[in-house]
Amino acid sequence: MKKIAVIGGGIIGAVTAYYLAKEHYDVTVYDDGIGQATKASAGIISPWLSKRRNKQWYALAKDGAAFYTKLVRDLELDDSIYHKTGALLIRPNAQLEELADLATERKKDAPEIGTIDLLTAKETAARFSLLQPQASLMISGGAKLNGQALLTTLYQRILKEGGVIHTKKALLKKGPQGFIVEFDLGEHAVDQVVLTSGPHVKTLLAPLGYQVDIRPQKGQLIAFDTTVDTHDLPVAMLDGEADLIPLANGKILIGATHENDAGFDLTPTKDAFDRLTQSIARFLNTPTHLFSSPYHYQIGTRAYTSDFAPFFDQIPNEALFVASGLGSSGLTTGPLIGYLLAQKIQGNQPDLTGYQKPLHTYLKKS
Ligand SMILES: Cc1cc2nc3c(=O)[nH]c(=O)nc-3n(C[C@H](O)[C@H](O)[C@H](O)COP(=O)(O)OP(=O)(O)OC[C@H]3O[C@@H](n4cnc5c(N)ncnc54)[C@H](O)[C@@H]3O)c2cc1C
Repeated sequence: MKKIAVIGGGIIGAVTAYYLAKEHYDVTVYDDGIGQATKASAGIISPWLSKRRNKQWYALAKDGAAFYTKLVRDLELDDSIYHKTGALLIRPNAQLEELADLATERKKDAPEIGTIDLLTAKETAARFSLLQPQASLMISGGAKLNGQALLTTLYQRILKEGGVIHTKKALLKKGPQGFIVEFDLGEHAVDQVVLTSGPHVKTLLAPLGYQVDIRPQKGQLIAFDTTVDTHDLPVAMLDGEADLIPLANGKILIGATHENDAGFDLTPTKDAFDRLTQSIARFLNTPTHLFSSPYHYQIGTRAYTSDFAPFFDQIPNEALFVASGLGSSGLTTGPLIGYLLAQKIQGNQPDLTGYQKPLHTYLKKS
């Protein structure tokens, strides 16, 4: 059986490794966890009303959201990890009507959107008591995902299926056949490599002579530990920088920042706390009550390309697969990307062209 190394155990790498290990591939995951976006993420799975014009991205995000049905079944995820509680969109009234029309149009080929309801101010407050009475649009297919908990489950399943996980940094070089993965416990010769290391694909590929169009973006969010019964609350996608995501057990997230000039910095900043809480305060019933709860920061590094679109494929003429650039929507698109990569490695030739530009748009041999 071929030996496969997956470098980067965030959502894409872990899903790829899981589906390969399930088919009895000899898979080893290397993940140093530093700045990982998946465990820091907010957890909104609701891509249908995005105004992005990139049709390939929308096809990927729509199919990515639909793919959760399979992932939930395959991993037997419970609703503390993935929960379809709906998404509430808060916008000025005129925009809500427009969004309801867009949702109705998009539902024709995305039935996962579920029911589409314009809610009055009173109905919104009844659905989510932390919010001030204000009109909203509710789509029942929106879901919340605990990225960290999903990874814990995936890691358990990879190990159960016979895979190996090293929580270590890895480097890559060409071997006599295939590749050599170097890490601080030694070297492993492997037949194929999957690079799913977020923005770090750039440094890992540089010694092999590739230039990659990818940059880091710092994302900070604030996680409040409250006594609110959050279990059935929907996610609230607000007008402004911050959204409100009530995960399980009273945990309420407010996020996230999109900081393009911070590089790989992971320091929590007061400025982020102030901006996020100020952005959200006007939508809340009793902001001070939430903001005085104990809190911690979740901070990760997103990877993004010049056109904000992801890429994932085999590098031509190499036993090397790469996926990165998932930006702000990687929880939504990541599992489908990981599954498609696993399919490709198994020789099943899934059609990836409808989801992205050709790989050479982002990755060139120097
Ligand atoms: C604050 C925040 C909020 C977000 N909210 C949402 C949301 O609501 N909805 C949504 O869809 N998306 C959201 N995202 C985006 C989403 O989290 C990411 O797009 C997605 O998790 C990226 O997954 P990935 O597997 O590509 O990378 P990552 O999860 O970053 O994983 C890459 C892994 O590679 C490891 N690595 C790197 N180099 C090496 C090396 N040399 N050796 C070993 N390991 C290495 C890293 O440590 C990391 O663990 C959010 C992101 C952030 C930061």
